[in-house]
Amino acid sequence: MKFARLGERGSVELAEAPSPEAGPGEAVVTLAACGVCGTDLEKLRGNYRSAGILGHEPVGRVARLGEEVASVAVGDRVFVHHHVSCGTCEVCRRGDPTFCPTYSRTNIHPGGFAEEFRVPAENVRRGAILRLDPSVPWDVGALLEPAGCALTALHRVGLPPKATVFVLGLGPVGLLYARIARALGAAWVGGSEVAPLRQDAGRRGGMDAVVDPREPGAVRAAVDRGTDGGGVDLAVVAVGHPALVREATTLVRRGGTVNLFGLPESGSRLDADLQDLYLRGVRIVPTYATTEPDIAEVHRRVVAGELRLGDLVTHRLPLAEAAEAFRLAGRPEDAVKVVVTGAAA
Ligand SMILES: [Zn+2]
Ligand SMILES: [Zn+2]
Repeated sequence: MKFARLGERGSVELAEAPSPEAGPGEAVVTLAACGVCGTDLEKLRGNYRSAGILGHEPVGRVARLGEEVASVAVGDRVFVHHHVSCGTCEVCRRGDPTFCPTYSRTNIHPGGFAEEFRVPAENVRRGAILRLDPSVPWDVGALLEPAGCALTALHRVGLPPKATVFVLGLGPVGLLYARIARALGAAWVGGSEVAPLRQDAGRRGGMDAVVDPREPGAVRAAVDRGTDGGGVDLAVVAVGHPALVREATTLVRRGGTVNLFGLPESGSRLDADLQDLYLRGVRIVPTYATTEPDIAEVHRRVVAGELRLGDLVTHRLPLAEAAEAFRLAGRPEDAVKVVVTGAAA
């Protein structure tokens, strides 16, 4: 079977591997769709220290099951979460499961951009396979993981009632943040974005203000209008740029929170006025990845009609065109969310 992997010098290449077997407690899933994530693009650029496995937003059909798997059946339409926490270590028990040392060690093999992939017993046991409601199309299933990341972040920072939120960078995750913040009851949601296609997706999703950050003073003016000059409760930095983190600290109210979500360059530094942060009580909270309960909550909210996600997928390309899918995903002016499709779709 074919799968996509990191090639030489920042390329994506198709490779051949034996069809995976389902060992005891394991599952093999036939790919229907898997989104190209910003972190996949960072792996290509060599900026992300990780195992280098591509594709972690997969949905598909269960093809084979190992002994002792009772939670799903062959033929089920499923979403699969690639990382699971151990649930027992100190980090997990303190409520930070995505920072559990086990978490980023676990993965699906050989990744989400594969005709078939194997889900290890540890993932199956920890509830990483979620059965999709028949009403949820594959595209939307492929958005459950990034949407879960936004929900986990909003849970971690704690959104006050009738919150005001500003999102810097309306890539797929920034747009998902805006929609989920709204679903959680945010009263005002604004954002900044350069690419018109993504600005439109923000407006279509019901954002109260979407501005071009290259326009001098536009971001500040939007926040002032939305918050009567007080600053937002939460500013989300959905692009890993240190200058945007500093800018975000100036957009939050006294006691407000900056959520660092986008992956910063390795070694990047924050150049901010620490006395200003101290005197205004600004919190900077990094968040990373998501959990099975949060993915299940997103799924529930989608099924209940509280969250509309499907329009964020602008391109679907078959696995054979994975390299082109990556090229498109790296072009904000042409694409919002790009999904790679497989035979189960
Ligand atoms: Zn992702
Ligand atoms: Zn743990």
